[in-house]
Formats: sequence, C-alpha cells, structure tokens
Amino acid sequence: MRNAATILIVEDDERIRGLIRTVLAGAGYVTLETGNATSALSMLASHRPDLMVLDLGLPDRDGQELLREIRSWSNVPVVVVSARGQERDKVRALDGGADDYITKPFGTEELLARIRAALRHGQRMAEGEKSVYNIGGLQVDTERRIVRVDGREVHLTQIEYKIVTLLCRNAGKVLTHDSMIREVWGPFSNCDTQLLRVNMANIRRKIEKDPAMPEYILTEIGVGYRMAEVGSADGQSCRE
Ligand code: CA
Repeated sequence: MRNAATILIVEDDERIRGLIRTVLAGAGYVTLETGNATSALSMLASHRPDLMVLDLGLPDRDGQELLREIRSWSNVPVVVVSARGQERDKVRALDGGADDYITKPFGTEELLARIRAALRHGQRMAEGEKSVYNIGGLQVDTERRIVRVDGREVHLTQIEYKIVTLLCRNAGKVLTHDSMIREVWGPFSNCDTQLLRVNMANIRRKIEKDPAMPEYILTEIGVGYRMAEVGSADGQSCRE
C-alpha cells in the first residue's frame, strides 16, 4: 500500500469512528483507535502515530485541553473533528496547535484531503523551506522574490508577498486570521482582521482569474484562509 502512515483516531461516537477507520484503511493507512482522552494520551506516547484525528467532544476530558497537553510534548499533526457551526471551537483548536479540522458530517474526500495535507505539512517542516512553490498556474519563487500567474509576473507589496508565501508554505492547510496576523505583522502588532481582509482582496485581484470565485486562496468562513493544492508540484491535487 502507498500510505504506510499510522493514524490514531480519537472519537467516542462509535459510528463515526468506524466510518473514519473504514475510509482511512481503504486509503492504505494503518489505524489505531480509542474513544477517550486518557487512552489517547497513552496510545500517542506508546505507538507514536504519524497523525491524530481528534474529536473535540470526548467523554472524559475537554478536547481543547487535551490538545494543549499533547502540544506540550508532541508535534504529531492533529486534525480536529468538530460539529457544524462551531467556528469558535475550530479557531481555538487551530490556535491551540491543531493542524486542520473537518466538520461533521464530512465527506470521504474531504477527510482524506485534510489528512494528506497535514501529513505533507509535517514532512515539509522536517525537510525545510522550499525555494519555489508551484500551485496550479501560481508560481512563487522565494529566492528571487518573484510571483507569477500563468507565466506573467505579478507585483505584490511587501505585506501581500508575506501573506502569499505564508500560505504557500502551508498549502492545503487552514490558517486562522490571528495566526496569519501574528506571522505577517508580528506578535505585538495591533493589526486586525479587517486589514488582513483588505490585503487579501488586493492579492486576489492580482492573482485570481475571478476574485469572487478564488481558485488559489480559499476562504474558510469564520476561521481563516487556505491555499489550495491545485495541481501542485508533487503531482497531487486535493482541492474539493
Ligand atoms: Ca464526541
């Protein structure tokens, strides 16, 4: 099988856990599973899985609290499972160290896409920075500081360029508004989401064919932004 990664599924709802297990096993992943936080911690320590799928509503402990504890000693990529409409929980989990999230009810393709992106992101972090990012027709050359769309050079401001490279480095992964503001303007800036939105609108005008229907930088409503992985250099596409 192509995907030899081991994934720990932490979900107390047996039906959903079974569904996730079936999907992941079908895609060739090795799965481990549990329905509570206590055994999740011990399985994480003893089995060292490559990724964890974590339901935030567990019977014995708050998922957010569990996530904080995990992040104090482990860098395992975590994809959070949350219920629809709980944007605040998603944002909290992402800012608390989760890599991504899926919303119940979720589709098979969406689940696999989130997992692939989180696993790849972990690999990228281990390999270090790339100098050229190719995402569909978008090319960002960080050595020469050149951004091209379909071969045509696009001029971005310093801030716009920082936003685009940040998203490229995390392609496929959602970034919260706050985490982007921290990265782009610095941890002590008093910049707000409105300024981020204004910059995003300008970027989209420059790089998207139709800024109202973005193909590269996707909006995650109430959460943040995600760089799509359209026909990226590694030959995999995981855009829904
Ligand atoms: Ca639950």
